[in-house]
Amino acid sequence: MSEQQHPSPADIVRFYLEAGVDTPLQDGPINRLAEVKIAPEQVIAAKPAAGLPVVYDVDVSSAQTLEELKAMLDAYDGCGLKKTATQAVFSDGVPGSRVMLVGEAPGRDEDIQGKPFVGKSGQLLDLMLKAIGLDRSSVYIANTIYWRPPGNRPPTAEESAQCLPFIRRQIELAKPEFIVFVGGVSAKTMLATNAGIMQLRGKWTEFSLPELGTLPALPTLHPAYLLRNPAHKRLAWTDWLSLKAKLKNT
Ligand code: URA
Repeated sequence: MSEQQHPSPADIVRFYLEAGVDTPLQDGPINRLAEVKIAPEQVIAAKPAAGLPVVYDVDVSSAQTLEELKAMLDAYDGCGLKKTATQAVFSDGVPGSRVMLVGEAPGRDEDIQGKPFVGKSGQLLDLMLKAIGLDRSSVYIANTIYWRPPGNRPPTAEESAQCLPFIRRQIELAKPEFIVFVGGVSAKTMLATNAGIMQLRGKWTEFSLPELGTLPALPTLHPAYLLRNPAHKRLAWTDWLSLKAKLKNT
């Protein structure tokens, strides 16, 4: 390449390879020169139509057990996060429990141990569960995203769409009576809404799946958020008490 010429795409790729950059983290290129800054909320808002989930084209309906679904997930290469993660984080707890919790995405500890909510936020989650008489032997836990996003960044709308068929089928196969969406990313993704978690939390809503029908769902604040904003633990406490009452009265 002479000094006057602009680098060709091939020159740029060669430059990246020589610099050791050989793994794409996104499905599409990012224009780093564009001036627009995209906040995580706007990424969610970028879904094609408000209220409709983006369903990625993968058919998991043939999975009849959670083991079969996990095998399909392990064979699935449709999400780039798999390349940088240690392993898929599928579930913890007991399938068939009355309550299923759906969090956001694995963090560093979860990526290493292969189970959801085993780090600091998991410890707080365990305390909140204990306060209403639950623990990991009486709930089933999964996430909307199965692989740790690098650096714990929020998952993109594409990554959420790529994992969505799996978590929807996982819920169908786990057959909970009640579902708790833990945190804004989970609530927004699963309910296909652009509403904020402060608006959604604490309000029972309905969540429907073809094979399972409609079940009551409760969005609540994420424990990682509560660790950063301890004053809001009070709000989360009312949410968990509402779940306790629902379990008692149903
Ligand atoms: N946060 C989540 O939402 N899920 C995990 O598994 C860990 C942290």
